[in-house]
Amino acid sequence: MSIRRICKYGEKVLEKSARKVDFEKIKKDLPGILKDMFDTLDAVGGVGLAASQIGLDLRFAVVKIKKENEEDLRLVLINPELAEKSGAMYGEEGCLSFPGLFAKVKRFSRVKARALNEKGLPIEINAEGLFAKAIQHEIDHLDGVLFVDRLPFMTRMKLKPVLMRLKRQWKKMDESKLKNNSNQ
Ligand SMILES: [Zn+2]
Repeated sequence: MSIRRICKYGEKVLEKSARKVDFEKIKKDLPGILKDMFDTLDAVGGVGLAASQIGLDLRFAVVKIKKENEEDLRLVLINPELAEKSGAMYGEEGCLSFPGLFAKVKRFSRVKARALNEKGLPIEINAEGLFAKAIQHEIDHLDGVLFVDRLPFMTRMKLKPVLMRLKRQWKKMDESKLKNNSNQ
């Protein structure tokens, strides 16, 4: 089991549109990466994780949905696209790349997504509620869009100082880590 480091707001990989996956090219490495991603999600208690959040410029994500009295639903979305979207909901959202930050974001309440699964087979997912929110959040990541980009203008303005501070803190953390690494 290996837990991957999750990239934080301010790291460039989170702001770019991820490269489309050529399944044949990554199928050998994919099972290991997916296992790490689910292990990471289990360890930090998240709902979804995009490959870009562990520093990979690749268009795929994992989503884990808790089900009552059933095993968690673990979904792999490779090259996902929203095929249909409808309705609206407004709910609290967080992101593993912004630890401790939560804000209300407007999302579609129902979506249909098309993607490839972990075997490279095409799948179609109809989702609503929390599940729909998670899928939209992860596809956004793959487009380089972060949940704070979805906030109403005034909220974004209010949060700006907090975000700037977080960016500086994480930058310092990363720099000290780099220093440690170069000492070894
Ligand atoms: Zn996120």
